[in-house]
Formats: sequence, structure tokens, C-alpha cells
Amino acid sequence: MPRKIAAGNWKMNGLQSTLAELQTLEAKHGDADIAILICPPFTLISACEDTPFDIGGQDCHTNEAGAHTGDISAEMLADVGASYVLVGHSERRTDHGETDAQVAAKSQAAYDAGLIAVICIGETLNEREDGTTLDVIDAQLAGSVPDTADALNTVIAYEPVWAIGTGKVPTTDQIAEVHAHMRARLQDRFADGDEFSLLYGGSVKGSNAANIFAVPHVDGALVGGASLTAADFSPIIAAL
Ligand code: 13P
Repeated sequence: MPRKIAAGNWKMNGLQSTLAELQTLEAKHGDADIAILICPPFTLISACEDTPFDIGGQDCHTNEAGAHTGDISAEMLADVGASYVLVGHSERRTDHGETDAQVAAKSQAAYDAGLIAVICIGETLNEREDGTTLDVIDAQLAGSVPDTADALNTVIAYEPVWAIGTGKVPTTDQIAEVHAHMRARLQDRFADGDEFSLLYGGSVKGSNAANIFAVPHVDGALVGGASLTAADFSPIIAAL
């Protein structure tokens, strides 16, 4: 069985005062039997040391170290207690022009540092409307997921770009189609393809989480806005 994961991506949000939310979350879910992953901004990672939750970065460089001003390596994330890193989030692909090849290289850098890579993929609205969603998913899976991936070092997050931060959520049939497709592709390519955790992301809230989690091959969620407060994130964790 794939591991169930409730993941929060804080994006460029969160100050030291925000960490109080994690204490509230810990009181309710500190002994949960699913994985709870928090991806705060880099500045807060070491301050999360004492939480019982898994901690992840939101990006890493392809290299281990060097002259790359402003970047963070996977080894640095591991050094301050992270065990996961998001790679290829659509905001990185859009804002920083990240390609599938770079995402694959970042994933490999994550593996080399002992981190689990959460590789994010998903179609734009144009691609959805053109009917090319599954082609886009195939290309991103082929290009962004290294051959060295396995179910222990990799999680795949399906995040339709048009559903991120918009309040628009695909129908459960649309999510089911993509997740079944991803599962089949991973099974084709990897001996343990049925064990990869597959997350859905994009406007997940307490009110829609249970419906989404009931979809076959949805093993959890990657949550943006609704992960920023314990009040919003807690019902999502509870639904999983
Ligand atoms: P929202 O939950 O705010 O739509 O963001 C989803 C996301 O991008 C998580 O990585």
C-alpha cells in the first residue's frame, strides 16, 4: 500500500510567529499514523526541528554546492532536518523556467542527499481544454522522474495548474482518470510502481478533501493556502 501523506506547501509564506500553527497541529495530530509533511520556506526549516512532522524544502539546486547565489542544495536541506523536497512545482516551472530535465536533475540531487523528492506535474488550462492532459502527464513523468526513482525516494504530486490557488477543482472523474493513468505509467516503468504515493494538489480544502481522498490512487494531498493555519489544515489531515 502506498503511504498516505498530507503535505502542506507554505510557498513564500510564514514568519517565525507562524510556527505556533504547528504546535496547534501537533496537539491534534502529533501521533497520526499517516505522514504529515510541512514544507515551510527555507528560513523556517531549522526552526521546525522539534515538530513530530516530516519537513521538506520547496526546491533544491541540481548541484551539491558551489557558486550559485541564492540557491539551496539538497544536502543543505538534509543538514537542517528536512527529509523531503518539492521539485518541479508549477510555480517554479513558470517563474523560473524550470524544464523537465532540470526537475529530473533536482530529483537526483535529492536522492543523492538522502531526501525524498516530491515531483510535481500537471497540465495548464489550455492543455486541459485542448484534450492533451494525459500527453502532458506522460511527457512530464518521462522527463521529470529519473530512472533511479523508486517508491521509497519519490512521491508524485498531480497539480493541475488551473486548480492551484483558484478555488477550481477538477471533478473526481478527472482526478481519477489522471491518477489511474499515472499509476499505470509508473507500473510500466518501475518494479514497485504500485507503491508510489500519488498526491493530488490544487484548491484542496476541508470541505472537498474527503471526496478527493475517496478517488482511487489518490494517496494524499499537496495543500497550499489551506495548509497555512492549523484550523484549515487539520480537517484535511482528519479526512485522510
Ligand atoms: P492551493 O492549495 O493554494 O491551491 O495550492 C496548491 C499547491 O500549489 C500546493 O503545492
